[in-house]
Formats: sequence, structure tokens, C-alpha cells
Amino acid sequence: MNNLGLYRAVSSLLRIKYRTKIMLIAFAGTHVPLLALIFYFVQKTVPGGVDFKILVIATLATLGGTALTLTILNYLLQPIFLTARSLKEYAQEGILPDLPTGFTDEAGTLMADAQSALLKLDASLRRLTDFDQVTALPTRHAFMRVLDTETSVEAGLALCAMNVSNYDRIAAAFGQSAVNSVMVGIAARFRDLLGDEAPLSRVGTNIFVFTLDLNQAGDLASRVEAIRLAIESELFLPGLSLRLEVNAGVSLHPGGLLDAERLINEAISALAETHVESAIHTTFFSPQQNERARDVFLLERDIRLAIEQENFSVHYQPIIDIAVGRVVGAEALVRWSHPTRGMVSPLAFIPIAEQSGLMDAIGMRVLQQVCRQMGRWVGTPLENVKVSINLSARQFLNPDAVLQISDALEANKVSPHNLEIELTETTVIQDTERTLLILQVLRKMGITIAIDDFGTGYSGLSYLKTLPFDRLKIDREFIQNVDQTITSKAICKSLIELASGLGIEVLAEGTETAAEVRMMRSLGCSLYQGYHFARPLPADKFLEAVQLIEADLASQFESGEWIQPTVTPFTLSL
Ligand code: C2E
Ligand code: CA
Ligand code: CA
Repeated sequence: MNNLGLYRAVSSLLRIKYRTKIMLIAFAGTHVPLLALIFYFVQKTVPGGVDFKILVIATLATLGGTALTLTILNYLLQPIFLTARSLKEYAQEGILPDLPTGFTDEAGTLMADAQSALLKLDASLRRLTDFDQVTALPTRHAFMRVLDTETSVEAGLALCAMNVSNYDRIAAAFGQSAVNSVMVGIAARFRDLLGDEAPLSRVGTNIFVFTLDLNQAGDLASRVEAIRLAIESELFLPGLSLRLEVNAGVSLHPGGLLDAERLINEAISALAETHVESAIHTTFFSPQQNERARDVFLLERDIRLAIEQENFSVHYQPIIDIAVGRVVGAEALVRWSHPTRGMVSPLAFIPIAEQSGLMDAIGMRVLQQVCRQMGRWVGTPLENVKVSINLSARQFLNPDAVLQISDALEANKVSPHNLEIELTETTVIQDTERTLLILQVLRKMGITIAIDDFGTGYSGLSYLKTLPFDRLKIDREFIQNVDQTITSKAICKSLIELASGLGIEVLAEGTETAAEVRMMRSLGCSLYQGYHFARPLPADKFLEAVQLIEADLASQFESGEWIQPTVTPFTLSL
């Protein structure tokens, strides 16, 4: 057992403070002479009696000596206790030590060493937490501390966040060290523009923030624009000159109590709304935008979870051919039952899923569920129902799309003739050459193609001449009140004539009333989908709905409800 081992063993037996231990030892040590004296006198005086005077003097002298020893010991131990207390205060509360100096012995050196070690440690920690390692600008943490001390800004201030939108391209082309030099260059530009003392920070790899005083001369938007353009101007690095693209997001603090964290987050979320392609380089924060950003963030997180946990289901909305009085198809519509929000509309989550690259995964699950369902319908009265699937642009243009579709059909032994793909105008005009190729392959397989929401895009009609479609779905916008609105009727009439001239079927989407059906029927449309007939339903309710719709139609036929369509011949000149 070494010295420390022995000490540890004694310590665990004597659970008393270090200071008390030393005092006890000192006390015991100084009383050994006293005990010796007492023993000596007792020995000497047993026959003749004790000499009390000497005994009292000796005892008092020993006690006095003990008290003096303890006092001196306590004093000598002070540096150790002070050092220990300082270490504890720094570790627990971050209080920097202020130990006395000027001692020459080891105890003094101990204090001086502890003091300088803690000061050094603190300085390097501060350098790490308060200053960005690349640009030496204050970090978010340090910037917020400065802003918080300016809490009582009366006049209000603007907080501006800027980033380099071609950051990734620069990094990919020239590597990380070039990007670091760019950031250093930008930091220097900011310092030149704003001054050495202005609150400025690099809060993220590619985000700088700074404040502007609202009281200063000049309108805020033009001041921000001037700074943005100055940062954007050509940057010269050794052997390289770069043109930067810079965006800005601005949040405003009207004055009074300031919440630095919120202000920074608002400016960053405004920054996210900038859009280089649309030349929107600067955006100002608005509270609605903040709520939207938070909502999008939460939904995106939940969509990821829902994909993992297979929480998407598919509903089927009947498609009716009124000329034959039958349900001939169904549109597959994705449904998401959110654990706390309830049913979330595809209109709310699909755009988010598309932006975050999650739509492929959702579309894939819909495709597989639909094919599984069609597989189950084989051999039942629903065997010939043609199911239409909506494909997003990304999903459709994905090189694996055709293979995924044919795999899903094959795996469930479903005929491709039972599947229809719905595409929107915006999808097909993105890359017409590629679209044409994919459409040709799909149609060769036997899959039919519908153009969805027809009439709502602003794409012109020339794609109808080059791309092969089987069905055109007239958007609800034109069907709604078509019986009462002359313009809707005129549009529907010409769309039906156009389609008939091209040999394409027409379907009226979102039909809600019998009057709309009657009007569309009189214009020559025989395919319908809409709440008037049925809402989208879960697969297990579909057969029942089909039977009800067909029975209803049969009775209407008998009562002579449906007139024959009048189709006007149409000559094409696209
Ligand atoms: P859409 O393709 O135009 O689908 C028709 C939408 O109109 C559906 O909304 C349907 O419920 C609704 N609808 C049907 N009949 C009526 C009616 O009579 N009146 C009214 N007011 N609405 C009617 P839903 O299910 O909310 O879907 C909205 C959109 O989400 C769809 O519009 C489609 O663009 C997209 N979507 C749905 N499922 C999928 C999917 O699996 N993949 C992709 N890529 N998009 C999907
Ligand atoms: Ca659709
Ligand atoms: Ca539609």
C-alpha cells in the first residue's frame, strides 16, 4: 500500500473533514509531552503527594502551546483551503478565482499555479464559445449576450441575417479551405461596412447576423440592400476570384424589451423565404411566416415518422361513366391520419413532403397499397375498376418510376390496363422530351394517362399535340356552378370539343350537384367524379358505394333522366 492508499483507508474509517483531521493530529501530537509530564509527576509524587502547582503550570503551558500550534497550522493551511474553494466555485458556478499573491513557499506556488491554470482554461473556453474559429467573429452565444445587454433599446432595431446562396456550389467546386477564406473575406467586408464595434456574428456555417439602428438616416430596405450588394461584389482570393450571391432576411424589433433569441430566429426564417430564381433576395419577417415555418418544421418531422410507421392510407373516389350507368374507375387519394391533428389534407402535407424530398417515399407507398388493393379486387365485382394514381413531378420523372410501377403491378398480379396515371400540366411541361419517352413506355404497357386539373395551369395547349393522353380531367373550378355560370359553361364546352377533336376522354372533376351533371352531360361529358356521387372512401366501403351509385343511376335511366350528349365536331388547329 502506498502513502495515498493508506490515507484513503484511514479517510474512509474516519469520515471527518480534512481540516479536522489535521487539527486532531496536531492536538494529539502536542499533548504527548503533557501526558509524559503527568506520568512523570504521578510517578514521582506517589509516596509524598502530587505537586499541584507544577502540574497546573505544566498543563497550562502545554494547552497554550497547543492553541498556538493549532492557530499557526490553521494559518499555514489557508492557501490549500482557498485553492480548493476557488476550484469548486469555478467548477460549479464559473466564478474566476482571485487568490492572494506574493507567497514564496510551495503553498503560495500552488495558489499561483491554480489561479493561472484556471484563468488560462477560462480564456481558451471563451475563445471557443465566444469566437468563431474561422472568422474570429463573435458566435451566436456571444452576440446574444451583447444584444441582451442592449435590452432597453428605445428606438428599436432591425436584425439582419445574410447568407451566401451559392455556398454549396463554391464548396463543391473549390473545397472547404476556399470556403473558409470566403467566409473570412465576408467577415472583413462586414467589419468594414458596419464598423469594428457593431454587433456582428457568424451564427451558422453560412449565416451572418448584425443589427441596424432604426434611428439612423436612410430607409431600412435600401440600407440592407446596399450592404447586401457590397458583400456580393466580386471577392478576390489567391488565384481565384468569385462572384457571390447573397440573400438577406430581416426581423424588426420595435423597441422596448428585446428577445434576442427570437429576433435571430425570425431573421433566419425570413432568410429561408428568399428565392434566388425569382430574384427575391431580401425578405422581411412577418408573424404569420414564423407560424408557418414552425408548422412546416413540425409537419416535416411527423411526415418522416409517418413514412417509417406506414401511417398513410389510401381512399378511393368512384369515377362514373354516366353513358353506361356504371362505376368504371376510382381515383386513389392518399390519407394521413395524424396522431394529434387528425386527418391532414394532402393539400397541406404534399407540398411539404415534396420540398423535403419525402414525396417519393409516400408515392411509392401509395402505389404499392393501390396495387395490393387491386390485387384483392381481382375475382370480385370490382375486378375491372380502373384505379387512377396521382404522380408528383419528382416521382414521375424519377428514372426508376416505370420499373417501380411495373414491379408493383406484377407483384400483385394486376393488369396494367387497370391502372391510370394522373399528371398535372406543370409536371408534363417540365421536360417534355423525357415525359414523352416515359408516357410512350407506360402506354405500351397498357397503362392509361390522364391530365389532371386541366385548365388551371398557364402552360398553353401545345403539349396536347405532342404528348399522348387518354383522359383530360376538367378542374373543379370550371365544373362548380357550370349550370349557372356562362363563362364556365363556355370553357367546358370548348374543352370538351378540344378533347373530342384529339380523341381524348373528358372527365368532370368535383361534381357536386345534379344540375352540374346535367349541364356537363348536355355538353357531351360522360365521365364524372365528385361528392354528388360519392366522397373518397376506404377500400372496404367501396363495393357498397358502387352498388348504391349504380342502383341509383339505373332508376334515373328508367325515369328518362339522362339525355343523349350532343358532340359538336371540332377541327383542330393547334
Ligand atoms: P386532385 O388530384 O385534384 O384530387 C381531387 C381532390 O378533390 C381530392 O382532394 C378529392 O377529395 C377532392 N374532391 C373530389 N370530389 C370533390 C367535390 O365534389 N368537391 C370538392 N370540393 N372536392 C372534391 P384530396 O383528396 O384532398 O386531394 C387533394 C390533392 O392532393 C389531389 O388533388 C392531388 O393533387 C393530391 N394528392 C392526393 N393523393 C395523392 C397521391 O397519392 N399522390 C400525389 N402525388 N398527390 C396526391
Ligand atoms: Ca388527381
Ligand atoms: Ca384534379
